[in-house]
Amino acid sequence: MTEPETPQEPSFRESVDLMFNRAVALMDLSPGLEEKIRVCNATYTVRFGVRLRGAIHTFTGYRSVHSEHMEPVKGGIRFSTAVHQDEVEALAALMTYKCALVEAPFGGSKGGLCVDPRAWDEHEMELITRRFAYELVKRDLIHPAQNVPAPDMGTGEREMAWIADQYKRMNTTDINGAACVTGKPPHAGGIAGRVEATGRGVQYALREFFRYPEDVAAAKLTGNLEGKRIIVQGLGNVGYHAAKFLSEEDGAIITGIIERDGALHNEAGLDVEAVRAWIVKHGGVTGYPDANHHTDGALLLEADCDIMIPAALEGVINLTNAERIKAPLIIEAANGPITAGADDILRAKGCIIIPDMYANAGGVTVSYFEWVKNLSHIRFGRMQRRAEESRHQLVVDELERLSADKGLGWELSPGFKEKYLRGAGELELVRSGLDDTMRAAYQAMREVWHGRDDVQDLRTAAYLVSIRKVADSYQAKGL
Ligand code: GLU
Repeated sequence: MTEPETPQEPSFRESVDLMFNRAVALMDLSPGLEEKIRVCNATYTVRFGVRLRGAIHTFTGYRSVHSEHMEPVKGGIRFSTAVHQDEVEALAALMTYKCALVEAPFGGSKGGLCVDPRAWDEHEMELITRRFAYELVKRDLIHPAQNVPAPDMGTGEREMAWIADQYKRMNTTDINGAACVTGKPPHAGGIAGRVEATGRGVQYALREFFRYPEDVAAAKLTGNLEGKRIIVQGLGNVGYHAAKFLSEEDGAIITGIIERDGALHNEAGLDVEAVRAWIVKHGGVTGYPDANHHTDGALLLEADCDIMIPAALEGVINLTNAERIKAPLIIEAANGPITAGADDILRAKGCIIIPDMYANAGGVTVSYFEWVKNLSHIRFGRMQRRAEESRHQLVVDELERLSADKGLGWELSPGFKEKYLRGAGELELVRSGLDDTMRAAYQAMREVWHGRDDVQDLRTAAYLVSIRKVADSYQAKGL
């Protein structure tokens, strides 16, 4: 018997291009502009050596700039042994569309370094990161006005603090140096709520989706997030925060968690904090007590649930498993978790996909706030907080006076007073700005999704909205 032919899957970048092409075919862009928007402007590859443990180790890194219709260009830096040029270029393209969709005034970029961050200790990682940053700063591929990296898979606040410091050492007179990178720790020029931002954005995206019964019905679901059964793939920064907020604040039930070493399943609901603590302590989910275990984690992607949140790698839902996916609603917390071929299959089955460029835009949205904060050199809320509080005090005083004058006997509860009187701090301002952004972007996509007969899905709608913005910007300023 001959082996069944393995289906042909395009590369990640080709997959992004195919989805772009599907959307652009519905537009009437001027000749050549379509191609100009699609292609990646430049990808810089660097190989550098670092002396570690008595030997010289060579590392390969990339920084790709997809579109400079707005500057600076923006996008994370990924540390992983799987990093390669095609991946970095696909991710840079997604950054262009993502920023346009949520109106963060940036072009798209992305970086990556082939390194296993778990193979080196903290001091070694610092040497490697600083050396990579040095190479990028030297070529203006890290610069507050030109190219502003951020965390991505395998990097976080720690790496961003090293990068910012490296830039400042090399540009001692740049007063805006802190804005050369976002995702820094709060005490090193960061902003409150950046770490949770991408997961928080996933939560706000789902909340907005569930505000429209028509959209919920399209996913063959009813009601709101309360009681919805969710499977999350990847309990890293994004998956963890999304699962935590959705279960703690919206009454959703996390029935499955898929990790590198296997998956956990429990229809009664998994305790996200407990699973996270277990992973931190044991390096994986193996042995976690309160759940059924699957050694082949990917199989849980095919399990029955209401909402699937792939929050790990690209290409996990592909031609080999798309047909068997049962989730009626998928929200792409990761970048590119569904290949172009799988997207076709899922759409034909009626599955609703909330696309990556929208679903995970919370990270870059709050990065934008951080960048603005760094350039303005002032903490959000610092100038208005007292003013806000004294205006609130006026309302409270007036209510109490009215109640006393009219003998109504009203008393404001201490909890209400306390919450109302306190002006919004940085975290509240960041969250409200993020919520507003996620709502507005969903509404822009939704209008196209429901308003055009030739648009059947949210991803095409998202591309149409964002490509239009990029095109308008090129048309306004020239190429
Ligand atoms: N790496 C994140 C992303 O893929 C954040 C990028 C940023 O904040 O610039 O969207």
